[in-house]
Amino acid sequence: MANSNVPVLAVRDLKKHFPVKKGLLRRTVGQVYAVDGISFTIGVGETLGLVGESGCGKTTAGRAVLRLTEPTSGTIEVGGTDITHLSKGDLRPYRRQMQIIFQDPFSSLNPRMFAGDIVGEPLLVHGVSSRKERQEMVAALFARVGLRPAQMLNYPHQFSGGQRQRIGIARALALGPKLIVGDEPVSALDVSIQAQVINLLQDLQRERQLSYLFISHNLAVVEHISHHIAVMYLGRIVEYADTRSIFVRPQHPYTEALLSAVPVPDPAIKRQKRVLQGDVPSPVNPPSGCHFHTRCPYVVPRCKIESPPLREIAPGHHVSCHLR
Ligand code: SF4
Repeated sequence: MANSNVPVLAVRDLKKHFPVKKGLLRRTVGQVYAVDGISFTIGVGETLGLVGESGCGKTTAGRAVLRLTEPTSGTIEVGGTDITHLSKGDLRPYRRQMQIIFQDPFSSLNPRMFAGDIVGEPLLVHGVSSRKERQEMVAALFARVGLRPAQMLNYPHQFSGGQRQRIGIARALALGPKLIVGDEPVSALDVSIQAQVINLLQDLQRERQLSYLFISHNLAVVEHISHHIAVMYLGRIVEYADTRSIFVRPQHPYTEALLSAVPVPDPAIKRQKRVLQGDVPSPVNPPSGCHFHTRCPYVVPRCKIESPPLREIAPGHHVSCHLR
């Protein structure tokens, strides 16, 4: 029996660096520090929101966790087993447990396949060979995600954006995973449809004790679905806490700035607007010391020299900033 105290996913000091090659001889002249030493855990039935601007490394982190891209160093444990260096064959049972939902459901669905075959493909690959059995399982999945089983014979272009994301969710659910990585899974959808898809993901989580790594550039989107939030900046986690602490007592200047852009539904609560200057610097040559110092309104000389470690400043609340 699975021990619910063992995290579904435990990531320690995960790094993914890409070499930068130049010239005729393709010499390595530098590294892109896409993910630069991140650690987190996700418990059974929990959601971790991984948030940051585009280019901060969150998508690479999600792919590295699933070993869709090979990590440079660090460890990935799934249900207590270190899968970081497992061979393709040994990784297979763990692949079943970990699925991904992409941002753009249209480009991730084969336009020439029936929707039912798309959802049933993972079943076929993982050994459910009886067509009848597959069709029954797919029909049940269609019904569960709010599609009609009759739509199994439609092509992806015959569905709306929200329906296509439901197909993506049904496909991810097909093998009964424990963990789903959602890479901006609702960013391409209208706001009203976003809420429906998030509600569906939450219902499925309750029903199946699913764990999610929910990647988004938008704090407002992750608020409703996440139990914990990790804020990423240039390949590193700068703040990591439960969702309420992040929203009520943000401690890192970058989190404060991201939050100031989130609309507050209660007019009695006013947030000071903080507009971040400039773009995220290149991860090829990240700024020295604290990576955020080129944009931080509170920068002090020490910030340019010394990199602040991620410290626990209150139970479960971790921040990397010299001033906290
Ligand atoms: Fe700003 Fe310095 Fe804190 Fe970095 S360490 S977030 S630059 S105050």
